Amino acid sequence: MKILISGAGIAGPTLAYWLLHYGFEPTIVETAPRPRTGGYIIDFWGAGFEIADRMGLLPEIRNKGYMVREVSVRNRNGKSVAGFPAEAFSRMTHGRYVSLPRGELAASIFGSIDEKVESIFGDSVSQIEQTGNGVHVVFESGNKRNFDLVVGADGLHSRVRELVFGAESRFEKYLGYKAAAFSVKGYRPREELAYVMYTQVGQQVARFAMRDDRTMFLFTFADENPRSPGDVQSQKALLRERFEAGGWECGQILAALDRADDFYFDRVSQIRMDPREGLWTRGRVTLIGDAAACVSLLAGQGTALAMVAAYILAGELSRCGGDYAAAFRHYQELFGPFVLTKQKAALRFAGSFAPKSEFSLFIRNQLFKLMAIRWIADLAVGRDLADHIALPAYQ
Ligand SMILES: Cc1cc2nc3c(=O)[nH]c(=O)nc-3n(C[C@H](O)[C@H](O)[C@H](O)COP(=O)(O)OP(=O)(O)OC[C@H]3O[C@@H](n4cnc5c(N)ncnc54)[C@H](O)[C@@H]3O)c2cc1C
Repeated sequence: MKILISGAGIAGPTLAYWLLHYGFEPTIVETAPRPRTGGYIIDFWGAGFEIADRMGLLPEIRNKGYMVREVSVRNRNGKSVAGFPAEAFSRMTHGRYVSLPRGELAASIFGSIDEKVESIFGDSVSQIEQTGNGVHVVFESGNKRNFDLVVGADGLHSRVRELVFGAESRFEKYLGYKAAAFSVKGYRPREELAYVMYTQVGQQVARFAMRDDRTMFLFTFADENPRSPGDVQSQKALLRERFEAGGWECGQILAALDRADDFYFDRVSQIRMDPREGLWTRGRVTLIGDAAACVSLLAGQGTALAMVAAYILAGELSRCGGDYAAAFRHYQELFGPFVLTKQKAALRFAGSFAPKSEFSLFIRNQLFKLMAIRWIADLAVGRDLADHIALPAYQ
């Protein structure tokens, strides 16, 4: 079976790895000219960590990753006002927890299929037409190809979803926040293995020191307007407008923005598709990862979930011996309820990223202080780290 995967982020290459493993013939198309590197720091654990282990990627991922030691909250003068040791995350996952740039994780996964899978960079699907016995795809480059199946793994703003399932606005649930991230070299101060944040009502900026003298910054802020500024200059202008009056290091972080060679800006949204309409499947086309069920950065687990979805979809296609309709159905039944609980859990975290009142900010900081007590930290962290899904073992 020839299977086209749109998107070489996290879900796409993971799916390609497992499809190849079971003897399918995957092709990846990615709109970026090369695999995207760098990006924001992600936390990685749970069932996705288990998949990475089954792919033999753990030594490389651990090597590229960081074991964060401390989360620290500063006031406008830089004084520490709350925080906790981060060891509970590692303790509650038996050491199977790591933080690393999203691009590094994507590169490790892509490395496992590089030169084994046909990969087309700098192109995108532009038309998808399902025929009786296959899918006819037209690419933006003008190329035309036929595949047996098409999988959209092209993220929150999925093109496949738009072409086959309908406009993004039908499925996107904006959560009332925007997020931005960038990294620069040579920023001072540096605090090793500490996630340092400054929170005001409705907004937060955090920094994390990485290898090669780089520092990554992550901004989150409440914004009633669901629309994002269209170009990078207007996005940076919005960040400046929101953060320039802030205390702590806001001024120097915004000054560093001009030196950034990477910049991420987007709405914080979830993708919710309707099970009554067939959820993520239309005939020979299906969706995985953020394209299907983005949980948002608030869940802190989107990459792991993208890998789990890819593993299950490939495994079910193999188990069903080419009966793609049955495989898609099983994939939805196994993964659907699990990811829905993660979407709900993400909403509980919204308040801790950028509390919307002085009172909720005060409560959040008190909770952070309590997390310094080991059993409270284990209780608080343990519940949300648990992944209630039994990963099937496929032959
Ligand atoms: C600020 C932030 C912090 C986060 N923190 C965490 C965290 O701590 N832990 C965690 O696990 N997750 C985190 N996430 C979520 C995580 O990054 C995503 O859930 C995950 O990357 C989803 O993987 P994906 O492969 O589905 O999509 P993506 O990683 O978005 O990959 C999609 C790919 O498709 C490509 N593409 C887009 N359009 C097209 C097209 N038309 N044709 C071809 N290719 C296309 C893109 O270029 C990209 O390479 C965070 C997200 C954000 C924004």
